[in-house]
Amino acid sequence: MGKCRTIEIGERFGRLEVMSCSFRPHHFVCRCDCGKESNVLKYNLLNGVSTQCCDCNRHTKKPKKDYLRKRFGHWKVLSYLGRGRWEIRCDCGKKKETSTYAITAMKSNLNWSCAKCAQAYRIDRERLVLIKAGLTAGLNQPAIAQLLNLTSERIGQIIKVYLK
Ligand SMILES: [Zn+2]
Ligand SMILES: [Zn+2]
Repeated sequence: MGKCRTIEIGERFGRLEVMSCSFRPHHFVCRCDCGKESNVLKYNLLNGVSTQCCDCNRHTKKPKKDYLRKRFGHWKVLSYLGRGRWEIRCDCGKKKETSTYAITAMKSNLNWSCAKCAQAYRIDRERLVLIKAGLTAGLNQPAIAQLLNLTSERIGQIIKVYLK
């Protein structure tokens, strides 16, 4: 097709500045903004494949799976900390650090939460069984609340969360 575009000395491609022709065929010596010089293939410069040196590449490399701002169970992913570590926040507000590996393993678990919440949810699920039994037996919400030593609002909350 068209003629090969030439590359000028001093031209910039992302963080790379073309310094000179390389002794390697089809390569140019480029200096990255970080100061590192390397031989870069002309094709990679023109196609936007190479925009910085390999050191910088390694630092800005995106995690394999982008979990950023996604929600898994009761956790929300807040930020990527680098080296396969993430900061996540439970619905209750508790934050913690976790690994890509942990997220991958737990992501299909809709009940995934912090330990404290997990215990609360477990208790609520047990209560729900009793609430259901009470409703089936024809008791109304205030009566069930009295039996379980909870407020009627709390019963309503549990029903709302778990009986959807
Ligand atoms: Zn660099
Ligand atoms: Zn929590």
